[in-house]
Amino acid sequence: MGLRRRLFTLQAATLAIVSVGALFGWGVNTLISQRADEQAAWVALEVDQLAHTSFDLLGAIPATGEYLLTSSAAEVVALIEQDLKGLQTFRRNLDGHLANRELPSHDAAIHRELETIRLLSVQAERNLEATRQEALAAAAQRRPIQPALLAKAVQEPSLAVMRRHSHLLASLHDKLDLQLTVLAQRERHARQLGLGIFLTVLVLAWAVGLRFAWRTADRILRPLLRLEQLMRTSSPHVLPAPGEEEDFSRAPEEIASLNHSFRELLLQVQQLLNRLEAQASTDALTGLANRRRFDEALDQEWRRSLRSGEALSLLLLDVDHFKLYNDHYGHVQGDSCLQQVAATLLAEASRSTDLVCRIGGEEFAVLLPATAEADAVRLAQGIVTALDRLAIPHAKSSVAPHVSLSIGVASGVPSPHQTPTSLIQRADAALYRRKQDLGRHGVCVATAEASGRRLESLA
Ligand code: GH3
Ligand code: MG
Ligand code: MG
Repeated sequence: MGLRRRLFTLQAATLAIVSVGALFGWGVNTLISQRADEQAAWVALEVDQLAHTSFDLLGAIPATGEYLLTSSAAEVVALIEQDLKGLQTFRRNLDGHLANRELPSHDAAIHRELETIRLLSVQAERNLEATRQEALAAAAQRRPIQPALLAKAVQEPSLAVMRRHSHLLASLHDKLDLQLTVLAQRERHARQLGLGIFLTVLVLAWAVGLRFAWRTADRILRPLLRLEQLMRTSSPHVLPAPGEEEDFSRAPEEIASLNHSFRELLLQVQQLLNRLEAQASTDALTGLANRRRFDEALDQEWRRSLRSGEALSLLLLDVDHFKLYNDHYGHVQGDSCLQQVAATLLAEASRSTDLVCRIGGEEFAVLLPATAEADAVRLAQGIVTALDRLAIPHAKSSVAPHVSLSIGVASGVPSPHQTPTSLIQRADAALYRRKQDLGRHGVCVATAEASGRRLESLA
């Protein structure tokens, strides 16, 4: 997955987690508060209704004591009818109330109480109705009402019970009122609990979101840091072998691609360095090792011979009268001649350890590790003969009709107090002798002490 998509997913997921968490917490909070609110509202309604019922009941209980204060039967009838009307109205209201009623507080005692009051009111109505009938009869006969009848109405037991129940209703009302206070308290607790849940879920959502963000950032940063370290420690000289490269397949595409590009670049640099290194140690005209390479190899082989105790031999070769060749045949022909000489040397010094170098204009060197003097001399003579056989015409040479070589040979087992330069000096001295004293075109072997011109004069 790409870096941009990863970052976008991270942001979106974190936001989603936090939002869902907040919504959930808010929802729980609202639900709890709403339920507590509803319950409180129902109970408040019930309290209200109960207060009304209590009040109506008190108003509807017949004031039978007043019957005793009147003397005329007609007045008693009027009082009873008024009370009956009150009772009937109360009962009708109570009926309707009981029919519709659902007890929000689930208080069965209230329901029971109301039912009892209803029955009592029916009983009181019936008894009052009987008293009324008797009072009506007395009025029709224009006689006073018997005191016993009035006393019976006053002492009507259902009315006394109704009064008692009205007190009970009042106490139930108080109980519900208390319940309302408890509910209000519960509502407060519920709100606090809801808020607590909301905050807890929010914190949890943040924690999960942040953990997710951290992990994703880590997934992006870790390969990036790995790549940065790889870039810091990588070198074109030591590239990991194929199959051993760092695995970026699970990293974001951009980082994997960056790693790929970096590898490619490193590979190109390595190839370039190899080419440069090869160029830096190769002679452009002949393709032979150059002076720099020769110096390195001599140093290396010198140390190796020091360790092994084997002889190291060196041939220094110089083309005879090459200036005259150049002057006569031209520089281009001169170059071609040098190339043919180089090819001859390569063909003759064919062991894998032999190193043929061009160390100056028309001067060559052949380094022969683990080679005794006799073998080196044999090879030198072989080279002279091989070039003679090639017979590159040289009209201006005074030593042969063709291009020829003078060779100085130096051999020996290195000792710790000597330097590699001593070997060159001995070979150079031998070459000088061949040139000056022995008439060029041939080989001269250095004695152990011989040392003539300094190394610099070879260049
Ligand atoms: P001697 O027999 O004493 O060695 O004489 P010489 O002429 O070979 O030696 P000298 O040092 O006087 O001349 C070397 C010549 O080699 C001079 C120069 O023109 C020629 N030369 C050097 N480098 C090159 C090259 O790269 N190409 C060509 N064509 N000629 C070169
Ligand atoms: Mg020369
Ligand atoms: Mg020469």
